[in-house]
Amino acid sequence: MNSPESPGSKNLTRRTFIESGVVAGTLLASGSTTVASAEDKTLNQTEKTTGTKYQIIVVGLGAMGSACVYHLAKRGIRVLGIEQFDIGHGLGSSGGHTRQTKLALYVGTPYEPLIRRSFELWRQLERETRQPVFEQTGWLWYRANGEWDNLAGKCDYEVFGPRQLQQRYPQIVVPGHFNGLFDPVGGLIRSERAIACHCRVALEHGAELHGREKLLGWEENDKHVEVQTDRGQYRADQIVFCSGAWTSKMLKDLERRLTVTRLALGWVWPKDRERFALGKMPIWKIDNYYGFPMLPDYPGFKLAMHWRGQPTDPDQIDREPNQGDETHIRECLARHFPEADNPLLAMKICMYTHGGPIVSRHPKFQRVCLAAAFGGGGFKFSNVYGEALAELATENETTLPMKHLAL
Ligand SMILES: Cc1cc2nc3c(=O)[nH]c(=O)nc-3n(C[C@H](O)[C@H](O)[C@H](O)COP(=O)(O)OP(=O)(O)OC[C@H]3O[C@@H](n4cnc5c(N)ncnc54)[C@H](O)[C@@H]3O)c2cc1C
Repeated sequence: MNSPESPGSKNLTRRTFIESGVVAGTLLASGSTTVASAEDKTLNQTEKTTGTKYQIIVVGLGAMGSACVYHLAKRGIRVLGIEQFDIGHGLGSSGGHTRQTKLALYVGTPYEPLIRRSFELWRQLERETRQPVFEQTGWLWYRANGEWDNLAGKCDYEVFGPRQLQQRYPQIVVPGHFNGLFDPVGGLIRSERAIACHCRVALEHGAELHGREKLLGWEENDKHVEVQTDRGQYRADQIVFCSGAWTSKMLKDLERRLTVTRLALGWVWPKDRERFALGKMPIWKIDNYYGFPMLPDYPGFKLAMHWRGQPTDPDQIDREPNQGDETHIRECLARHFPEADNPLLAMKICMYTHGGPIVSRHPKFQRVCLAAAFGGGGFKFSNVYGEALAELATENETTLPMKHLAL
């Protein structure tokens, strides 16, 4: 790790630290935002005038932060990424190996161009790294009296009732009044691998990424943003917060808007494992339960309940699964997957952040962008949100249609 720069604090009008609970930042009265550019001449100018080593600092290297440093580094931006835990960890919102993605749900909504772009970007990441990141399994969505007329003519999908479901996927049981949709484009993203791949490509393009380094405080002035971590001090032109469940600890003005909840994931070993294997069944959502086919490189059939979750604090969260967590999984197995209603292999705890989604420049600060509060649905968009953040931080605006996500 490079040694940190000296802060040059005489330019600063106010110092703020997260621990002190003070609202961070120094607002400029007027003037245009100093936005870094990929071009060397701007870079040299930036170094000359402010002594800034980095153009952009990204705080948090989970789903959004890893994608952000990937897009920035590929543009030639000098970026520093800071992660409080290991780079690749299961303590935030992105652990548990897999996440779902789908198309049908977003067709005709403002998310349609974003999800379509995300599929392109997963394939691009796979080509760059030669790692399988996205598995197109199709997405099965079953619910009571489900109706799908709104999708007619807008995308490829199939509708079938419980009897056809039994013929096609005998391992899945649903009540007679349930109706299902099959979206052939959906599938699973290997979430932890995606983060690792984004970080690896970023590093290969010159990004500096620091694991096990926690941001303690930050502030902006008319020349730069200054950051204090538990290992050093750094300066940059811009800062991007991709800090997941911890966001409101750094951006205190969002404290009342963002809330965090605790949820659980579980893995079991089905009796007839062949029927649950990747290639034999799609990703699925039945009522509020959802899950994944078994991967060849990780044991077990993964499932969970999608609900709001129990309120928590990311620094105080109980990471020990309890009886209530297991009950959600057992209910789903008993109702819909009796062949897999077996002892647990594993359980993990994860966090949703509510109050978003937000991908935006911060309206109160000249040098701040953020991506936060994606509840239970952000991973699938993380590559495209990372691309938008890279544009917002370097060019002040994004070419992607994302006004609905602005703060
Ligand atoms: C159980 C569960 C199931 C889900 N299922 C799906 C799904 O199927 N499909 C889907 O699209 N989405 C799903 N999601 C949502 C998706 O996983 C999240 O929206 C996404 O992972 C959020 O990414 P993030 O980068 O905001 O947060 P994270 O990945 O948690 O990253 C935030 C990072 O910031 C770091 N950080 C925080 N504070 C500091 C600090 N002070 N200094 C340094 N680093 C710091 C954290 O350590 C962390 O690594 C699910 C979420 C959960 C919890």
